Amino acid sequence: MFLEPKSHTGSIEVVTGSMFSGKTEELIRRLRRARIAGLKVSIFKPMTDTRYSVSDVVSHDKNAISSTAVANSKDILALADDASVLGIDEAQFFDMNLTAVCRTLAARGVRVIIAGLDMDYLGRPFGPMGELMSIADDVLKVHAICTRCGSLAQFSHRLNFGANLVQLGEKDTYEPLCRECYAKVASSVNQLINENCNNN
Ligand code: ZN
Repeated sequence: MFLEPKSHTGSIEVVTGSMFSGKTEELIRRLRRARIAGLKVSIFKPMTDTRYSVSDVVSHDKNAISSTAVANSKDILALADDASVLGIDEAQFFDMNLTAVCRTLAARGVRVIIAGLDMDYLGRPFGPMGELMSIADDVLKVHAICTRCGSLAQFSHRLNFGANLVQLGEKDTYEPLCRECYAKVASSVNQLINENCNNN
């Protein structure tokens, strides 16, 4: 269990994992507790994430918290105002400058809490998440449950292949898998990607 910082100095926390691992729920839990502590909380997410609402960070269990959608990471700096705790959801979709933005905020004394996918559906580091994990004070990797064997899952296996490399997920498009079950489907995934590339 992650314990909140006791003092109000700047810090960077990352909550990461696959689809359906509870990242956003954990982000919301920390932000709610900061609010209860009387701290000013701001929440940002990339404009590309419009699954449920343009103004709320919404997790899969509809546990919503109000947020601001921004076009790029620099907008977060511009709109951070005097927030002492700042949440960023779906951070994998932000530009690589997000690392510098988070460093700047932390240097100002802001507690930055980041949630995002660690890997894309091909198992590659996703956007700025790798860098963010490197510079963070604290990293929590949360896991989903493998839908095929019940083990802990860390891979987001994509069930359908559209035009976009990265789709925003729901249960009909992604399935969380453990390493072993992901390896079993990986060859068919690669085959589909090759077919996709050859057709384009
Ligand atoms: Zn499995």
